[in-house]
Amino acid sequence: MNELIRLENIHKTYHLGEIDLPVLKGVSLAIARGELVALMGASGSGKSTLMNILGCLDHPTSGGYWLDNLDISQYGAKERARLRNRFLGFVFQSFNLLPRMTALENVLMPLDYSREHLTEAQSHDRARSMLAKVGLAGRHDHQPSQLSGGEQQRVAIARSLINQPQVLFADEPTGNLDSRTSEEILEMFEQLNRDDGITIILVTHDPGVARHARRTIHMKDGLLQEPGGAP
Ligand code: ADP
Ligand code: MG
Repeated sequence: MNELIRLENIHKTYHLGEIDLPVLKGVSLAIARGELVALMGASGSGKSTLMNILGCLDHPTSGGYWLDNLDISQYGAKERARLRNRFLGFVFQSFNLLPRMTALENVLMPLDYSREHLTEAQSHDRARSMLAKVGLAGRHDHQPSQLSGGEQQRVAIARSLINQPQVLFADEPTGNLDSRTSEEILEMFEQLNRDDGITIILVTHDPGVARHARRTIHMKDGLLQEPGGAP
């Protein structure tokens, strides 16, 4: 297999004053390039903590992490940020759009932090094509408050794609959406995985969401329930 992600014996312990709170208790996992994986478990099982480590938003207390054969566990905050901008995209339950900005401006945002130096015309072209890809070609100038929840999440997806990531992390991406809109958003992830070959990790507590993935990794109390080797 073409391995993209490997975790070995990852631990994460939060320290709250005098108290140690172990949240990840030895997670090992491999994900191949091009997979669409659901990371499923009850609330509090450690999914977001694991996703934050996978997404280089946080670092483990101990254990090994290789992303595209790079040893990430040794990276500092700055190196992780650079890697995120180049390789990774994120979609969250709460959309996290900037309220006073248009859809187009929101989608353009991550380019400011990218090492690619596009001209303004190139940036705008790319942002427009991302909005078209998520079915929002006619909504460039709308602010978030002028868009439905599903449309806002589409803008967030377009934003997550602007730096052409290899991996997309989606943490409860349909948590604030009605069931029909959820289906549309999940079909969009399936399409991005199928047509563009983006590796997608879908974090959810909902078996109905996990059904859209081709593999489900079950998490309970900070551990994966089955060996997490890639298929
Ligand atoms: P899930 O996403 O599966 O609901 P989380 O990874 O968010 O689970 O949380 C797992 C556990 O870790 C919870 O008990 C939560 O309270 C705790 N936790 C998460 N983030 C922090 C943090 N930054 N500091 C302290 N405890 C945390
Ligand atoms: Mg969570």
